[in-house]
Amino acid sequence: MAKTKTKESSYSSAAISVKLESLYQLQTIDSKIDKLKILRGELPLEVSDLESEIEKLNDRLSNQVTIEEEFKNSINDQEQKIKDATALIEKYNSQQMKVRNNREFNAINKELEFQALEIELAKKKIKNSDVEITENGDKIKLIKAKIRERKKHLKNKKSQLSDIIKSTEKEEDQLLSKRKKAEKSIDSSLVDAYSSIRLSSKNGLSVVKIDRDACGGCFNSVTAQHSLNIRLRKEIYFCENCGRILVPEDIDA
Ligand SMILES: [Zn+2]
Repeated sequence: MAKTKTKESSYSSAAISVKLESLYQLQTIDSKIDKLKILRGELPLEVSDLESEIEKLNDRLSNQVTIEEEFKNSINDQEQKIKDATALIEKYNSQQMKVRNNREFNAINKELEFQALEIELAKKKIKNSDVEITENGDKIKLIKAKIRERKKHLKNKKSQLSDIIKSTEKEEDQLLSKRKKAEKSIDSSLVDAYSSIRLSSKNGLSVVKIDRDACGGCFNSVTAQHSLNIRLRKEIYFCENCGRILVPEDIDA
């Protein structure tokens, strides 16, 4: 039992009892503050996740809008081609009236056929673009709906967060002032020990109840003598295994 530290053993059991109660009170207050912080700590993360999700959706939306514009531009180009080809056909038709021989007639005929094919091709391209625009439009609708839904969700989360911040600020202030009072009633060396144990403990527990002759923090067994002394509030006992301060089970009775 080299690691066992028994402090303030010369003090009366009444004085030790007060210290144990104050330490337990300090722990209870700190655990409540920890809970408030955890509660607040999750919502900001959810809010920022939603914000980045919406940002990504907006990027996707602007990509789809760009694609739509490209198809619309392509339709305009093809329509212009049809206009140009139609004008050429008119021109060739009137030229064909004035031909002097078969060779000229055939040459113009070839041009006419070529422009007719150009018109057909352009019409095909327009049809394809129309299909693409419709499909793209469906995608745009879906993304817009998703953005609306996520924004609604974000608004809820933000208002939840601001409500929690408002409500917990008050509670936290009250807890902090209670904490100050509790801290004042304990020797500073004991407060320092309490704080350093709390820092090294994952769950922030520095003070735990003794639980059937075992440490309530790490479940390491405590000798019958120490267990009795703790119950009788005769000593401030630090768990040999985890270093936590052990208090009687009925400390909050
Ligand atoms: Zn322990």
